[in-house]
Amino acid sequence: MADPIILHPDTEFIRDVTRGGGADMKKCFQCATCSSTCGLSTENRPFPRKQIVEAQWGMTDRLIGDPAIWLCHNCGDCTTRCPRGAHPAETLSAIRCAVIRRLAFPRFMGGVFAIPESAVAMLAFSAILLLSIALLPAPSPGSSPLVFAQMFPKTRLEPFFFAVSGWVVLALTVGAVRFAGALRRGGAEGPILSNLVPALMEIVSHRRFAECGAQQGRRWGHLLVFSAFVGLAAMGTTVGIGSMLGLMDTPIPFLNPLKLFANLCALVLVTGAAVLVWNRLKDRQARAGAVFSDWFLLILIGGAGLTGLLSEALRLTQLRAAMFFIYYTHLTLVLTLFLGAPYSKFVHFLYRTMAMAATRQESSSSGWPITRRRQSPATS
Ligand code: SF4
Ligand code: SF4
Repeated sequence: MADPIILHPDTEFIRDVTRGGGADMKKCFQCATCSSTCGLSTENRPFPRKQIVEAQWGMTDRLIGDPAIWLCHNCGDCTTRCPRGAHPAETLSAIRCAVIRRLAFPRFMGGVFAIPESAVAMLAFSAILLLSIALLPAPSPGSSPLVFAQMFPKTRLEPFFFAVSGWVVLALTVGAVRFAGALRRGGAEGPILSNLVPALMEIVSHRRFAECGAQQGRRWGHLLVFSAFVGLAAMGTTVGIGSMLGLMDTPIPFLNPLKLFANLCALVLVTGAAVLVWNRLKDRQARAGAVFSDWFLLILIGGAGLTGLLSEALRLTQLRAAMFFIYYTHLTLVLTLFLGAPYSKFVHFLYRTMAMAATRQESSSSGWPITRRRQSPATS
């Protein structure tokens, strides 16, 4: 006879999932339609039915160490088919948010984007930090072209952003170490990161998003935002390091290939955010499932891209009255995104990559397929 399982329900976890979009999870009567509908659920790591039951019972440790919650791409197919209206896709999304909170470093920051009060406080904190390094009052109108460095001197802004980067990398590293420990306790064996490269390749291609049936538009919005962020992060790091080492001079001329590339990335970012917003607005199910943190993040992303492009336009046209305000808003949005990265949906990239690598490792040692074997039309 199997050993009995003694449950110690984590009521705080249940509360977090309920508030984060999983309010209907108690309607689930475990028919498993969702798991059989999901094109990404596998035989050895089935989801989402199992995780919904565990969330109902507040089995936090099991969920934190379960890579399957990160294999879901939130396509909504399972919610469309659920006969009880239990919203399995939204519940799994809420479970991921609750897990991010528990892996966060420092822990009290985990829910910073979850409610309007703390999200606005984070914005205000970023705004105050940036104001403290600005040259105030802003330069008065003069004959020479006004550049942003006259408002936020490079000697302050660059070290400031490098210090913030260091902090973000530390928070992400602690989160990754905690997650690796949880995966081990959840049964992961072998070198988790040995399959990192194929997992990254799969994420970059967004191949699994193509499996979605209900919300195909999400794939393109997600792909645009993801590509733009990779481009902007590479550009920002290159220019930042180049400028600090004295190898590059800023502001970079508008027709410089690096500047053109950055502006193209900003345009792609705004387009991607617009596609994601449109996708949510036009789809009743996606609209109903979106929580505050989803909208807040989309506004931050779209706003950062838009104010970045506007700042460029204002620099070219020298509309001095608006330059400081728009650039300051841009920096505030970028800093909030940056500081919030370890606690927002951005951190999906880290945990999903690790989960996919761990699942590949598990598959190569056990022989289980990493994706569901699809039946051919002739046999289905
Ligand atoms: S969430 Fe819906 S589809 Fe999935 S097991 Fe529960 S009732 Fe069935
Ligand atoms: S939302 Fe999509 S990927 Fe996630 S469990 Fe449901 S069907 Fe699977």
